[in-house]
Amino acid sequence: MSDINYGVLYVVATPIGNLGDISQRALDTLKMVDVIAAEDTRHSAKLLQHFGVSTRLIAYHEYSNEQRLEKIVSLLLSGESVALISDAGTPLISDPGYDLVNVARERGILVQSVPGSCALVAALSISGLPCNQFVFEGFLPAKSSSRCQAFTPLLDESRTVVFYESPHRIVDSLKDLNAVLGGQREIVLARELTKTYETVLSGSVEALLQQIQDDTNQQRGEFVLLVKGVEKIALEKGVVSSEAKALMAILLEYTPVKTASAIAAKVTGIKKRDLYQWALANPKNS
Ligand code: SAM
Repeated sequence: MSDINYGVLYVVATPIGNLGDISQRALDTLKMVDVIAAEDTRHSAKLLQHFGVSTRLIAYHEYSNEQRLEKIVSLLLSGESVALISDAGTPLISDPGYDLVNVARERGILVQSVPGSCALVAALSISGLPCNQFVFEGFLPAKSSSRCQAFTPLLDESRTVVFYESPHRIVDSLKDLNAVLGGQREIVLARELTKTYETVLSGSVEALLQQIQDDTNQQRGEFVLLVKGVEKIALEKGVVSSEAKALMAILLEYTPVKTASAIAAKVTGIKKRDLYQWALANPKNS
């Protein structure tokens, strides 16, 4: 239960590109609160000026120390209301704010959401990939070896997996994805959502890697990378999907059963042993 004399901490989403996506409630809240805690005060000052919001701004970012957090909490405890915003989208989603929300709730301060834009939700909703279940992994690691490690569980992940990625690493990330999952897995690259150069590309890892290598404009801006899950049926023990059978048939023209099974297992997520046994049981393909 929150103390009625405490202020409220509002977690307010701001646009991820198109300023028209700010909500009326977000504007009302930003005007009404005593203080706005922003990830980057200079960045947010422009947004607030655009909407005629003159509320006092203070900084609250990734590197804010304990004292800064305590200062905001003491404002709330003394009855002032605070709106937390980040540079774009929903605070806390790959953005600062977790500690503040956590501590505020622990101290009995009411925390309310003023929801709105979020790149991962925007991307999922237009990706054409299954959204009934998904995994959000945040930013991909900067190092290739760590990225490959992050991709490995996708070999047998049946849900859509969503990553954030920055422009200068997108090609390298797709190369790593290609190395770990093989070129045939379906992916979607949602770039510059809600902005002038919004582009949503979908296709196999191999095809999209080629496409963005050929067109460097497609490497610019902000990205959400979505990876389609492996079909559940393919993950069930012993079941070899028709897609996998077709792939095995091609591979077996060029390579022995053992190698073909290993490659097909990487691409489809089906167990190598099951593919191997299928090939032996269907000798016309081997
Ligand atoms: N809190 C934000 C949200 O709700 O989506 C995310 C902030 S995170 C620091 C920034 C990352 O989100 C970008 O590097 C990119 O991966 C993704 N992103 C943000 N805006 C985007 C946009 N307009 N189009 C595509 N991706 C975007």
